[in-house]
Amino acid sequence: MNIDSDNLAISRLVWQGPFCILCWQNKAAWPIVYVSENVKNLAGYEACDLVDGKISFLSLFENDTLTEIDQQVNAAISKAEMNVQLKNCRIKCSDGGYIWVEFHVSIIRDSAGTVEQFVGYIRNVENIVGEIQRLQNSEAELKAIVKALPDDILLIDRQGLLHQYRDLNNRDISILEAGQAVLHPGLDVSEMFPADFSDAVIENVNRCIDESRIIVDEYFYHSASSDEKQYIEARFSPKSAHEAIVVLRDITERKTYEEKLQFQKNIAEAANTSKTKFLASVTHELKTPLNAIGGFAQLLLLENKDDDNSESINEIILASDLLLSLIDDLLDMSRAESGMLSLEIEKVLLQRVINECMRIVSPNAVTRGIDIVLGNHLDEGSNELYVSADAKRLKQVVLNFLSNAIKYNKGQGSVDVSVVVMNGENRIRVEIKDTGIGLTPEQIQQMFIPFSRVSYNQETVSGTGLGLSISKELVEQMGGEVGVDSEIGVGSCFWIELNEWRE
Ligand code: ADP
Repeated sequence: MNIDSDNLAISRLVWQGPFCILCWQNKAAWPIVYVSENVKNLAGYEACDLVDGKISFLSLFENDTLTEIDQQVNAAISKAEMNVQLKNCRIKCSDGGYIWVEFHVSIIRDSAGTVEQFVGYIRNVENIVGEIQRLQNSEAELKAIVKALPDDILLIDRQGLLHQYRDLNNRDISILEAGQAVLHPGLDVSEMFPADFSDAVIENVNRCIDESRIIVDEYFYHSASSDEKQYIEARFSPKSAHEAIVVLRDITERKTYEEKLQFQKNIAEAANTSKTKFLASVTHELKTPLNAIGGFAQLLLLENKDDDNSESINEIILASDLLLSLIDDLLDMSRAESGMLSLEIEKVLLQRVINECMRIVSPNAVTRGIDIVLGNHLDEGSNELYVSADAKRLKQVVLNFLSNAIKYNKGQGSVDVSVVVMNGENRIRVEIKDTGIGLTPEQIQQMFIPFSRVSYNQETVSGTGLGLSISKELVEQMGGEVGVDSEIGVGSCFWIELNEWRE
């Protein structure tokens, strides 16, 4: 056996190993008698400087660490123990900085039991301590976030046993009748929550783990103390294959508010339905005598055609017609508001609807000196265009737009009616362009609101402000859209866009 070469091999092993070995005597100031050369890697010192006493044992450690080493070593000696382990102490490096180390000390006694010297194993734990500090920081951050939340957070396993809970804001978990005091790890959810709720909690804990997703559920129960309804929103988030985080939030206030709103909404809807029914019956009652007035006035006119009274009779007929159309508008409006407008969507020949409307408005246009010009797709021999609409209601909308274009036009103005086939979109647009004074963007925004009459000359023009809002509702129910483009001083273009009929 070659002792020198064996020593060399052992030295190399130690030099490359994770521990730096230090040996010192049990004398005042603990003189170092051996240190492995890897002390250079650990703290930057030359081993010979430590053995020579140029750098003392005492100068290697922080004062606190030295005191701890002293206390623990003495305690071990008095208890006749062999080893001392000091975790997380700091050693001073040659560059003046410190590193975290783990320090194991073995106490070496002679045959009489007297402590002669010590052997220390020093391991660099700088990375581990750094990682621990990073984790501690992020835990502190998480704790602060959790504390700021208004929720109760529980960790519950698949069997429904409580593993952990957080005492947030120092208050009881709202749903627990017995209060926070009863909480302890291992508690069964059935002892925490009402029966229905605890069954659902266990089911959702298992579901969220199985489906690896967050589940949100709401529960309500009657408080045992006040008998008031309590609402809880519970969120389940899988934490592991066995446990889920359960976040509970008291949503009683929000729910109570929603219930009140729903109650008020139901009352308002019921009132609206009664109003519609009332309007429908009143309208019917009003229309019967009005029709009689109109009918008898027509008869009177026939009998007194050349009479002085004929002008007055004509006024009666005009007024009763106006009243009839007003009543119809009111009825439509109230039906639309309560969602009771029922339409019959069918295949409608667009040109026929426009022609029928033209016949109705033409006399009025002639009286006002307004020229109506038919444009694209409306001249003779044009391809027939079919839209998906309710024919009667579409006629009502086109009539409304046409008569407005005449009513709100300048004297001797004109109205252009044309149809645009919107290729690629399966839509057909009817455009009614007038030479009126035009509308501002603000007026355009308001004009589709019931009873809004926005034009400058509205006092001189009869109307109710209902036509456009009813038209909009009707066209939207046909799957279409209405709109207007306008330029002040030039005129307005009202348009109706509808779906092309598809077999
Ligand atoms: P009414 O004509 O009975 O007042 P409408 O609902 O049909 O009701 O129209 C609402 C308002 O929109 C009208 O009062 C008028 O101020 C404005 N308006 C409608 N059509 C035109 C138009 N072609 N040019 C200018 N203003 C218009």
